[in-house]
Amino acid sequence: MTLTINAAFDSGNIELRGQSRDEVRLAIRPDTASAFLQWFHFRLDGVRERAVQVIIENASETTYPNGWEDYDVATTDDLGSWYRTPASYIDGKLSWTAPAGAHSLWFAYFAPYSIERHDRLMARVAGEDGVELERLATTADGHSVDCLHLEGPHTGERDAGSRRQVWAIARQHPGESMAEWWMEGWLERLLDTEDATSRALRSMADIHVVPNMNPDGTARGHLRTNTCGSNLNREWAEPSIEKSPEVYHVRRRMHDTGVDLALDVHGDEALPYNFIAGTEGVPGWNQTRDAELIAFKHTLAALNPDFQTRRGYPRNRPGNANLAFASNYLAETFGCLAMTLEMPFKDTADTPRPAVGWSPERSARLGRSFVDAVYLALTDRLLPPPH
Ligand code: ZN
Repeated sequence: MTLTINAAFDSGNIELRGQSRDEVRLAIRPDTASAFLQWFHFRLDGVRERAVQVIIENASETTYPNGWEDYDVATTDDLGSWYRTPASYIDGKLSWTAPAGAHSLWFAYFAPYSIERHDRLMARVAGEDGVELERLATTADGHSVDCLHLEGPHTGERDAGSRRQVWAIARQHPGESMAEWWMEGWLERLLDTEDATSRALRSMADIHVVPNMNPDGTARGHLRTNTCGSNLNREWAEPSIEKSPEVYHVRRRMHDTGVDLALDVHGDEALPYNFIAGTEGVPGWNQTRDAELIAFKHTLAALNPDFQTRRGYPRNRPGNANLAFASNYLAETFGCLAMTLEMPFKDTADTPRPAVGWSPERSARLGRSFVDAVYLALTDRLLPPPH
């Protein structure tokens, strides 16, 4: 059987450069109208009788070439469960062996979270009590930027003025699909009416959720940008209706509700850790805010050992924040706790699970843990850092 490569589907990305009987040579296609490239997702047929060597020849030309060190490829043969295939990065090329046996194999940078799965999640969640689905923007490609408002179940003392406003957004960078798997866990926990913490949180806070900020980039198989080539997490200072309507409309809605706590969910190509990047560089930073950020991180690490506080990005120096980043813009504008969560594409170095790496399931569990942490933050019960 002839080897065939196909990426003509939701979030597909690969180009065929050449092939022989037991080898395919491939290249990752850049994001539309931009030079970013790293995300790949394709199907390989014709491997039932023989193993095949898969080579991504332009791995060294990608945006984060150090992302390929100690990286194993997300793989499925049933489009249900994803596991990792060991890969090696040598002489600027990423390669791995597709074993014989399955009729078809799908490979991706990380387990994809498709537009169709997003639509199913929206349909399911929008039917729950106290949930309103709002279409906040229409993108250049005609996709919907969906926002879920979880308001209640309200208790007797409902008072709009005293309710806290929590915002969570994900996938400004569409290739960071772990961010939407995180959203599944976060939403399912929040909507569990038998969960006392979720009920308590929802009784005091309205929770606004944008599970996918960048559906155009998702569908097109991008790493970082929308169809116009805009990196949405550099657009928050001055978003434009033409080039970044996703940010323009979400930001406008945030100004309607106010923001008391904000989460922006991402993935990091290189670091094998879950960590939070704070907003220490915004002009309005102070010791109280710093203590709250540190306490939030330590509390989350206590709740979920897949999260840690030792490794991450260097702290932003005072006054040095780029206010075009979502978390910095929100921290400065609303004076609130705003955080960027980064999850790995690889695996967690401290709590590894080599067969699956960092995975959809682990991302969702971390999303569930955030319900506890946000509840403790809003009730002033975060843990102090250990001595
Ligand atoms: Zn990102």
